[in-house]
Amino acid sequence: MWVNGMTKEITEKRLQKLNAVFESYAMVAEGTDVYVCDVAYDYSRWSKKAVELYGLPGEYMYAAGDIWESYVHPDDRNVYRSSIDEIFANGCGIHDMQYRAKNLAGKYNMCTCKGVVLKNDAGEPEYFVGMIRNHSLNESVDNVTGLRNKNGFFNDVSRYLDCGIPFRIVMYGATNYTGINDLFGYDFGTRILQHCIRYVQDHNQNIGDLYRLDGVRVALISRTATIEQLRENYRQYQEVLQKPFLLDGRQVLLEINAGAVAVDRFDTNADTIFSCLTRAYQESKYNKQGDFSFFENGNSKNGIYRLERINRIRNSVIQQCSNFEVFYQPIMTAENEELEGAEALIRWIDEGGNIVPPDDFIPVLENDALFPELGEWILRQAMKECREILKTIPDFVLNVNLSYAQLQKLDFLDTVKSAMEEVGYPPENLCLEITERCRFLDMERLMAICRDLNRYGIKVALDDFGTGFSSLSILQSLHIDILKIDRQFVKDIVRDGRQERLVRSIGKVGEIFGSRICVEGVETEEMRDILRKYDVYTFQGYLYSKPIPHREFMKRYVEKHADAEQ
Ligand code: C2E
Ligand code: CA
Ligand code: CA
Repeated sequence: MWVNGMTKEITEKRLQKLNAVFESYAMVAEGTDVYVCDVAYDYSRWSKKAVELYGLPGEYMYAAGDIWESYVHPDDRNVYRSSIDEIFANGCGIHDMQYRAKNLAGKYNMCTCKGVVLKNDAGEPEYFVGMIRNHSLNESVDNVTGLRNKNGFFNDVSRYLDCGIPFRIVMYGATNYTGINDLFGYDFGTRILQHCIRYVQDHNQNIGDLYRLDGVRVALISRTATIEQLRENYRQYQEVLQKPFLLDGRQVLLEINAGAVAVDRFDTNADTIFSCLTRAYQESKYNKQGDFSFFENGNSKNGIYRLERINRIRNSVIQQCSNFEVFYQPIMTAENEELEGAEALIRWIDEGGNIVPPDDFIPVLENDALFPELGEWILRQAMKECREILKTIPDFVLNVNLSYAQLQKLDFLDTVKSAMEEVGYPPENLCLEITERCRFLDMERLMAICRDLNRYGIKVALDDFGTGFSSLSILQSLHIDILKIDRQFVKDIVRDGRQERLVRSIGKVGEIFGSRICVEGVETEEMRDILRKYDVYTFQGYLYSKPIPHREFMKRYVEKHADAEQ
């Protein structure tokens, strides 16, 4: 207990004052976490970042001193307690000590904690203000560019959120920088980066601060510029930096990208913002040929802004993937329309019970360090739910989508294998779907993963075939069991003869590479009848069913099957 031993509910007025004191300290708390306690009510506000790092119950807490003490290493608690007692006992105390505190991952970090007591006019303690510096987090400056680094970036974003200050961020970066490093050498690559940063700093009219995030990605945080201004500035950078220029007598040609996000509501956190920013940047790089891309933070039906919703979805992942549900869409054999298997498709269920489709969150979360956790949960959950089906339909194949974020992890295969072993699901009944977005990965690595999956007996499908750029080269390098033709190539097949010819050709491609064809988006009998003329192995689409919850899938496809067999 920091304070008087009693808790009474804080008044609105005192809460406002607490917030004001908190915000003024948070504003200048360079790289540290801040808390402020209203002594009379023993009510505190803590930095969001500390709440997340340590897994505290919330930003606002009664009796936070006791709560925090339980995070302090047991061997350090006595010292911690006596230091706090001392500061309250001797009138003008400043507490300044080091101790270990347990973070959310269960690891102890060394912290330096400084605290002061602020007194009211009557000389009684009114606020206890503390700052905690976590030593395991690196310092905030990048040595190469002198800019603040990713830690500095995260600290500042958290600080603005804590203080409720609106801001906008742009992420800038160059495409193909590896090529530049290979051509000119790493040091010269760094020279180019420094040159570009210099240029941007000289031309950004002091609208904000630059940060070096990683490699050649740089961010600008501005509290004053509008998105339109930032877009216009970027257009000017493009004009100059995308023209060949001479540096130290060598000619350089760059391609640059930019993605932006605007934050004007604060019920979110720095990690979520970073994932959304990265998503916008990737849009610019992969879909917009380097044009400025803005993360639309629109209002959804129930009045929740997209950044807030993504933040909630992200929190659901942290809370053991609660509020997610796997839906199943049947996959039927083309020949006689019998159940061949099902594709597992994730949904998030919001507070009002509304179903949020994956396109609203998967593309953003794929850029998040948390994604593999969700991916593993989907795989396990789907295998657990489908294990039963194998008793009735032994050849049933469960398809599960993979994201490049999962494949990127070095322990990906071990994760899959141990999930299968723990759940008791046979490899031959599983098919993992990779998409052409996986081309972000090193081809050698993708080849090794596919080889190992095949060796282990797991099938591999190439999803959304034809939508990317490198389909054929992927087919040539990897063994793909199933080619899934994307819906967009068949949706007009009834009217458009070219689509029919395309399916025929893809059938041939499949034959050459030893892959069977699955057509997605089969919506009508007419479509089905046309498709049946070609070498298509399976159909998936609304003609059979939309993705449905597990229980419904069992009722419609499995129990029926079991009854028929009896
Ligand atoms: P996808 O893997 O290409 O999944 C097929 C999508 O097509 C599904 O959308 C499905 O509902 C929709 N679809 C199927 N048949 C028809 C049809 O006849 N007509 C129309 N109009 N649509 C049809 P859904 O469930 O919204 O999923 C969208 C995308 O989200 C998926 O595309 C996939 O890329 C991603 N996704 C979904 N679940 C997961 C997951 O568990 N992990 C990962 N990494 N991505 C997922
Ligand atoms: Ca899929
Ligand atoms: Ca697909």
